[in-house]
Amino acid sequence: MTNPDQERRIAFEWREPRSAYDVVIVGGGGHGLATAYYLATRHGIANVAVLERSYIGSGNSGRNTTVIRANYGIPEAVRFYQRSIELYQRLEEETERDLMHRQKGLLWIAHSEPGVRAERARAAINTAFGARTEFVTPEEIARICPQVDLSGGGIWPVRGATYHPEGATARHDRVVWAYAEGAMRHGVEVHQRTPVTGLRLDGGRVTGVETPRGPISAGVVLAAAGGHVTALGEMAGLRLPIRSHPLQALVTNHYERRFEPIVASADLLFYVSQTARGEMLMGAEIDRQPSYSYRSGHHFLQYTAFRAITLLPFLRDLRVLRQWTGICDMSPDYSPIMSATPVEGLYLTTGWGTWGFKAIPAGGEGMAALIATGEPPELIAPFSLDRFAKDRTLADRGSAGTH
Ligand SMILES: Cc1cc2nc3c(=O)[nH]c(=O)nc-3n(C[C@H](O)[C@H](O)[C@H](O)COP(=O)(O)OP(=O)(O)OC[C@H]3O[C@@H](n4cnc5c(N)ncnc54)[C@H](O)[C@@H]3O)c2cc1C
Repeated sequence: MTNPDQERRIAFEWREPRSAYDVVIVGGGGHGLATAYYLATRHGIANVAVLERSYIGSGNSGRNTTVIRANYGIPEAVRFYQRSIELYQRLEEETERDLMHRQKGLLWIAHSEPGVRAERARAAINTAFGARTEFVTPEEIARICPQVDLSGGGIWPVRGATYHPEGATARHDRVVWAYAEGAMRHGVEVHQRTPVTGLRLDGGRVTGVETPRGPISAGVVLAAAGGHVTALGEMAGLRLPIRSHPLQALVTNHYERRFEPIVASADLLFYVSQTARGEMLMGAEIDRQPSYSYRSGHHFLQYTAFRAITLLPFLRDLRVLRQWTGICDMSPDYSPIMSATPVEGLYLTTGWGTWGFKAIPAGGEGMAALIATGEPPELIAPFSLDRFAKDRTLADRGSAGTH
């Protein structure tokens, strides 16, 4: 028997990729690695290579603010994200790794009458499709999170909120590593520093990938390349309905009191939670201008700090320690794309925008089933690429980062 530390050293030993696999997954983020893990553990398909151009988790899976929730705005999304919540709740046990998963509850605050109506509608649709969400009054908000200034600084008075008790966080890079190690224990190979520079095509079929370490043949190629997915689409002659937008986040120094829930405001477009170290972690909406720039900006810092301090005045005594950016793959209807493509053998998991960390378990599970059986499981079938051509889009504005 090897102990877990030995396993880890063995698994990440440097070696050259082989010349052929059943499945090549492009991108070692949460979605690529979770798909590899579920292919190996649920379907016995382990002749799989995950090719990551940098290090695993170097994309958005290692840059996000780690919020896990299912309180979305359309039935298809509520059901899908609820499945992911359930998988996350069992993931530490399944992978035998401490993921720092913690159920905290999530408050989604409304400051206006339209906001209250939207939150009441959210509670109704969540309840109808399997997620636990209830409408709460300002008095109940004060009980759940005493730090909230109910007057909203005299500018944005708090009118009510939805409370989603299963809202949670988990340590993002630990999730990535747990899936990578779990997949490798079952025979999957993960090759870091291995960019895919081209797709090999034969007629209307994908037959492999090009890399600086040589060509690799594959029966199936999954593009799980986050904000850089359109470049892969182009390699196959596909124009994907994705725009890449920067999304920023920041973290403060340690707040000495405990701040239990995740707090979001749909009207003010920001959200905040406390990390295990006691830091306050904040995010807001995407940068309007599509770009691949990882630069962090003063504008984000200014408006996020101003709005957050208005609702949570204690934040004014803290200092911003770090600010960073990820590149988000935004779909036109704010819903993911988990799908086969017109190129035979080429699959996509994309459109994860600002909301895809919470989706890693259910997304990986669904994509693995699609690749293994050729049929999309019911939970992911509505999220196919052809929904745009068929006018069956899934407009979901249930995320703070999408207004
Ligand atoms: C600041 C920020 C905050 C966020 N907060 C949340 C949140 O609180 N909750 C939530 O649910 N979601 C959140 N998200 C979104 C979430 O992080 C992403 O949707 C999710 O991580 C996407 O995972 P992925 O595996 O699809 O992509 P990624 O993690 O980006 O992985 C894609 C990988 O592909 C690699 N790659 C790209 N091109 C190639 C190539 N040609 N060859 C080989 N490798 C390649 C990249 O290097 C990268 O590692 C946030 C995102 C950001 C940026």
